[in-house]
Amino acid sequence: MKKYNFNAGPSILPREVIEATAAACLDFGGSGLSLMEISHRAKDFQPVVDEAVALFKELLNIPEGYSVLFLGGGASLEFCMVPYNFLEKKAAYLNTGVWATKAEKEAKLFGEVVEVASSADKNFTYIPRNFEIPTDADYLHITTNNTIYGTELREDIDSPIPLIADMSSDIFSRPIDVSKYTLIYGGAQKNLSMAGVTFVIVKDDALGKVSRQIPTMLNYQTHVKKGSMFNTPPVVPIYCALMNLRYIKAHGGVKAMQQLAEKRAEILYNEIDRNRLFVGTAEKDSRSLMNITFVLKDEYKELEKEFLDFATSKGMVGVKGHRDVGGFRASCYNAMSVEGVEALVACMQEFEKMKIKD
Ligand SMILES: *Cc1c(COP(=O)(O)O)cnc(C)c1O
Repeated sequence: MKKYNFNAGPSILPREVIEATAAACLDFGGSGLSLMEISHRAKDFQPVVDEAVALFKELLNIPEGYSVLFLGGGASLEFCMVPYNFLEKKAAYLNTGVWATKAEKEAKLFGEVVEVASSADKNFTYIPRNFEIPTDADYLHITTNNTIYGTELREDIDSPIPLIADMSSDIFSRPIDVSKYTLIYGGAQKNLSMAGVTFVIVKDDALGKVSRQIPTMLNYQTHVKKGSMFNTPPVVPIYCALMNLRYIKAHGGVKAMQQLAEKRAEILYNEIDRNRLFVGTAEKDSRSLMNITFVLKDEYKELEKEFLDFATSKGMVGVKGHRDVGGFRASCYNAMSVEGVEALVACMQEFEKMKIKD
């Protein structure tokens, strides 16, 4: 039976990306050695990093004056690196979920943190709008897509202070105006690559301004200067990212990824809104195109396990919701086909027919 992978992360990647990475693990570029066995300083690996950086810049239309870095530590280490490198006195955070809360917690170790707005009052089911940004803060931190709650800020907001964004789970799903950001980061294992590499896009002239001493490995300037080669980078995940970047380019770039995301989301949200058993959890104007969360209506709540088992029996993988939200979550990253979403919709319709006779 065909399986459809709706896992939230690590998550679906195009089959050809996985195959190309697997092939390089056996024989890297005809060298007779595995990608795992070669030096990251080998003359044949440097072009991998160079091309990955070039494709980042091309696909996201990154202006001059920004560096693209491939680091270790996951998005979670960026929660600490960001304030380490940018927080002098005070930082502003928009709290839209678990990840944003974790980022905020780290910043509090370095200075004053102002929460400009929070959607915690309604279990993070919406993205707060019209909040005031304190102009005396060193930066504003946002999380563009809330992987757990299924809400997303799909626009590049204007900020009078440097804007820093966690884009772990929606990078490469739409064109972004990078010039509005001072730094963008994310773990790769949602929409870019396998786990193990973290991407950072940073405006070079914003660095080096805080007065504190920064440990070498936690200083973005170290990695800018050394082109992500200060220490041994995660070579296999970087190679996998390159394969995926080539795939995105060959399939029409981020504009095409956006159209596909919109199409998938429209099909699934239409069904959630139509189906008498289910209801979406996020407010409509805040709905994520990447992580689509829904639950059974109160009167059908006891059917949760039964629907999960039913969907699983039809080849759906990873549709169980996060424990903080319950119900179901269909993560629809770039590699998810429209056919996959249609298969999930078919499950929902069949289940409705089984449960509501009319
Ligand atoms: C998954 C996720 C993280 C955590 O990423 P790690 O690479 O596991 O540290 C942070 N932010 C968002 C939005 C995520 O989806």
